[in-house]
Amino acid sequence: MSPATHIMTTARREILTRPVLSLVQSALPALSATENEAIDAGNTWWDAALFTGNPDWEQLLAIPPATLTEEERAFMDGPVDRLCAMIDDWRMTWETRDLPPEAWDFLKREKFFGIIIPREHGGLGFSNFAHSEIVRKIATRSVSTAVTAMVPNSLGPGELILRFGTKEQQEHWLPRLADGREVPAFGLTSPEAGSDAAAMTDEGVICRGQWNGEDVLGIRLNWHKRYITLGPVATILGLAFKLRDPDHLLGHQDDIGITVALVPTDLPGVTIGRRHIPSMQTFQNGPNEGHDVFIPLDNVIGGPERVGQGWKMLMSALAAGRGISLPSLSAAAGAFAAHTTGAYARVRSQFNLPIGKFEGIQERLARIAGNAYLLDGARRLTCAGLDQGNHPAVISSILKLHATERMRVVINDAMDVHGGKAIIEGPRNYLGSQYRAIPVGITVEGANILTRSLMVFGQGAIRSHPYLLEEIRAVGDANRGRALANFDQVLWKHIGHALKTAIRAFVRGWSGGRFAPAPRAGKATRYYRQMSRYAAAFAFVSDISFLTLGGELKRRELLSGRLGDVLSELYLLSGALKRWEDEGRQDEDLPLLAWCMESGFATIEQRFAEIIANFPARPVGWMLRLFIQPFGRRNGPSDRTIRQCADILLEPCAARERLVENVYIGGADEAVGRLTDAFQQTVATQPVHDRLRKARIRDLDKAHEQGLITDGELESLRAADAAVAEVIAVDDFAAEDLDQSGHETATPRIAEPAE
Ligand SMILES: Cc1cc2nc3c(=O)[nH]c(=O)nc-3n(C[C@H](O)[C@H](O)[C@H](O)COP(=O)(O)OP(=O)(O)OC[C@H]3O[C@@H](n4cnc5c(N)ncnc54)[C@H](O)[C@@H]3O)c2cc1C
Repeated sequence: MSPATHIMTTARREILTRPVLSLVQSALPALSATENEAIDAGNTWWDAALFTGNPDWEQLLAIPPATLTEEERAFMDGPVDRLCAMIDDWRMTWETRDLPPEAWDFLKREKFFGIIIPREHGGLGFSNFAHSEIVRKIATRSVSTAVTAMVPNSLGPGELILRFGTKEQQEHWLPRLADGREVPAFGLTSPEAGSDAAAMTDEGVICRGQWNGEDVLGIRLNWHKRYITLGPVATILGLAFKLRDPDHLLGHQDDIGITVALVPTDLPGVTIGRRHIPSMQTFQNGPNEGHDVFIPLDNVIGGPERVGQGWKMLMSALAAGRGISLPSLSAAAGAFAAHTTGAYARVRSQFNLPIGKFEGIQERLARIAGNAYLLDGARRLTCAGLDQGNHPAVISSILKLHATERMRVVINDAMDVHGGKAIIEGPRNYLGSQYRAIPVGITVEGANILTRSLMVFGQGAIRSHPYLLEEIRAVGDANRGRALANFDQVLWKHIGHALKTAIRAFVRGWSGGRFAPAPRAGKATRYYRQMSRYAAAFAFVSDISFLTLGGELKRRELLSGRLGDVLSELYLLSGALKRWEDEGRQDEDLPLLAWCMESGFATIEQRFAEIIANFPARPVGWMLRLFIQPFGRRNGPSDRTIRQCADILLEPCAARERLVENVYIGGADEAVGRLTDAFQQTVATQPVHDRLRKARIRDLDKAHEQGLITDGELESLRAADAAVAEVIAVDDFAAEDLDQSGHETATPRIAEPAE
């Protein structure tokens, strides 16, 4: 550095940066230990590119698409299909309240519990995408079965042992988990600690005890967990608890912190086996307790050196797992709703027309189709990122939150279109179980309101912003000299970046994004331009929010929720654009892409308008409007796009095929199989129907007599009518059958009031 530059830098640091640092230090609350650990978990990825305000679209397009290997494909067509064929979700829900024993055996034998466990440890060693595809397909048959297969592969002890376990733990436990000799469950939630899981009172105390006849150093555990999936049948618990060492047997610390250990459920003191019934889903779920249960220190996942690191480990596992499990269930719901609702709207007629011809129904069909397209695009993009070795914590949160929210939208729309058909329970109802599963998806793995309010933007801003984390870390540095030097470096870079972002946001806002950067993407190029426009606006509003609100932003959940929605839309829409590109720019799919982009842009603009209208400092709000929304807002998908999307679901075509790929149909005597058959027959006989309508004849026999239809056509029409009648039929039960079902006699345990 030349002497002149050195003098300038020192002057800048002392005159300008120092007062800013003091101001920020007093305004910014320090990050808590749990916040720090959550922020450190996983990495950033495409979220960081969006946060720059000027994403490099070529980088997105260069990501290799998620694909299956031959072996993974064979597993989908073999064991996955065979498993689906064994499952009768209705029987499971209302009669047996469990998967059939042969399905449990099959899951274990075919290593569904070891999808992510590497081959050298006896698992299938499949990719994240294969894991997601397997869960997605099973979920189109039975959500409970999908959850049963999914949990050991996502957040359970398997993932933790794989990533943090000692060599001995991996060699002992992973082969047993892979082939189902051991059934795992993950125990974090307790009655007093749900969303705020770190507030748990479950406790472990370091002590000496007997293990296999020897006196060893270990942990005495007391806990009460609830809502634990697979808990009632688990043989091994991955238990989270707060570890204490009051006798200082390990060191000088009293409170060691949250720790995760493996607890065999057959140990003395463990109470396990009772069940919750979560929204009438039949996957195993229940409470468990431990009273003075002793385990050796070697049972801590990662061994004694990992005591106190439980929270970090959990957050890190969550950073990947959340991006796969519930998004796969939600994508299944999207594809399933698209197939069934499109088919039903085609075969069900009212007022002499298929209900799919009515515009009110078309609006819902389009929303189902668009969301199904978007969900699967975002799922595939995320799997591609995970398969590249990323653990994108913010993206996983975005996907978990918005995939399950859209699952709610598509299933609700599907229910509405089906009317009474979907309300009346019985084996003919293929939607009821998906509907009841919605709140499970919304609540588990980080409840959605919390995820939206605190995690997506709250943590996303700190993690994914190009400079913010470095600034916060510099501000929190106890070494004042180093703090000033580091803060000075990053602050000025940030200021330069913020100025560029402001100019970009302004120019792109006033030009309607017409000249914003975009790759050469054929008919989708214009969408990239809008994305570049909104990314700049998002980065600008984020910077202004940090500048004006500082640490206060953390408590402004309404504001950070809306900013999070904008970031989320940008990510989800990136997934839709990537899908269109990876699938070879299919013209037939353009209405679906248009629906996603137009409705996503409308949401983004709506959120910006809400932010502007409610920004705490009013003049700042006006300035934001001037920069990013000078000409008002968009309206969402056009009526033309809506009609085109609905048509895709109402007619067999390649676009429909791509949308509903890998939905399990089942046999011709089962509900979805019957519907699919009726749909095909209805479509096949449509030309004859059209002819009859033109001739204004509704009576088939009369039409036949008059020679308007041939013998074969008459037969086809009758067969189609019979197939449709089977579809629109619903179940009814004899009163005595309901009385004898037996499950009403199960008595719930009433919790004792706390003393
Ligand atoms: C079917 C099922 C399966 C489960 N499986 C497991 C499992 O295998 N292992 C396990 O350990 N746990 C499991 N859970 C627990 C699950 O993770 C928790 O239910 C979840 O963390 C929420 O906790 P809670 O239900 O106590 O809700 P609460 O924490 O009481 O939250 C209630 C509401 O408040 C909101 N909220 C809380 N804090 C904030 C905030 N700061 N800002 C805004 N909103 C907020 C939440 O979003 C939620 O909407 C399961 C739960 C269910 C229902």
